[in-house]
Amino acid sequence: MINEMPQPATILVVDDLPQNRQLIELYLVRLGHRVMQAANGREAIDLLRTQRADLIMLDIMMPVMDGFETLTILKADPALRHTPVVVVSALNSTEDVARCISLGADDFLFKPVDRVLLDARVEACLVRKRLHDREQAALAAAESANRAKSDFVAILSHELKNPITGIAGYADLLLLQVFGPITAQQEEGVRVIRSLANLTKTLLADLTDLSEIDSGHLRLDPSPSRLAVAAAAASNTMRTLLADRHHRLRIDIPPDLPLVMADEVRLIQILTNLLSNAGKYTPPYGSIVLSAAQLDAAMIEVSVRDSGIGIPANEQDRIFSPFFRTMSARDGGEPGSGLGLNITRRLVELQGGRIWFSSAPNAGSTFSFTLPVAHSATTHPK
Ligand code: ADP
Repeated sequence: MINEMPQPATILVVDDLPQNRQLIELYLVRLGHRVMQAANGREAIDLLRTQRADLIMLDIMMPVMDGFETLTILKADPALRHTPVVVVSALNSTEDVARCISLGADDFLFKPVDRVLLDARVEACLVRKRLHDREQAALAAAESANRAKSDFVAILSHELKNPITGIAGYADLLLLQVFGPITAQQEEGVRVIRSLANLTKTLLADLTDLSEIDSGHLRLDPSPSRLAVAAAAASNTMRTLLADRHHRLRIDIPPDLPLVMADEVRLIQILTNLLSNAGKYTPPYGSIVLSAAQLDAAMIEVSVRDSGIGIPANEQDRIFSPFFRTMSARDGGEPGSGLGLNITRRLVELQGGRIWFSSAPNAGSTFSFTLPVAHSATTHPK
């Protein structure tokens, strides 16, 4: 139960008879409220477009625009639909009141208006309205804080990108001995610097993607794309990782697979991330298969299957959450931030597909996603 002190509010009284408006105004003013008056629905709506009201007391039978039409307009207007309405009607018009309630009225009073009832109903409506306004304000504040956070992350990751690229670049130059010979021990140290700088670069790129997706600023450029081309690009990026671990990668894409409608750069990113995970979370000499098939007239399904460590059942429901990593992934010492799958899922969904997986510990994992078939006959593949 919420105990609210009565607070002055602005109340619009709508009635075609001046004496009815005067009487209700008198009651409301005694309760400490400010009152505006309108002689019919049209006047009321016009007034509400320029002045805010916390509550509307609405007569039903009025010339020009009656209570039913007024309610319909109010409830269809996003700026006005949350202003509570108390219908004030003649005693013998229960059906009209019922119709008003089904149109969205919050409460009702019969004429002649009883002062005690009016007081109770007005106050109850105002308490609900204040709660609603507070919720909206809290929601707006949370949204604005979230936007500020996304902007901050975007600026920070952008600003850190240049220095970290510089660090990686100078590490490369040192390794190439451009500044003179280095000892084996120094080389080892510089390799660590370079690999940490590259990891940081990946993390910054993930954070940039995440903040752009969160703020709705991520730009996608979908076009009819050949999956086999994207798969070749992704496997090329992963070549060193897969070779270092002696994994076998098979790409199994039917030559007559229709084109997919996708942003090609993001499609390569999705495939690279799934192949990278398959490579990282599979012990050496593993087998990885990237396959695709047409699911139905509208969708193509792509899968990346590995023979790796798998994902325990009790951790599976968090796998797409940002920053989540399974215990075995963390213990295994594989580098990672836990952002890749979250971004991958959002990239798939933003392009009209969905993503899921099946996995069992030590029996491998299969990550699958869908993308729409590109249908237009006039478009050309990239
Ligand atoms: P990262 O690989 O950077 O940790 P991801 O978001 O790509 O982050 O993946 C989240 C977690 O899901 C990983 O840390 C790992 O625990 C688990 N995971 C993802 N792919 C696989 C896979 N193919 N096999 C086993 N575990 C996986």
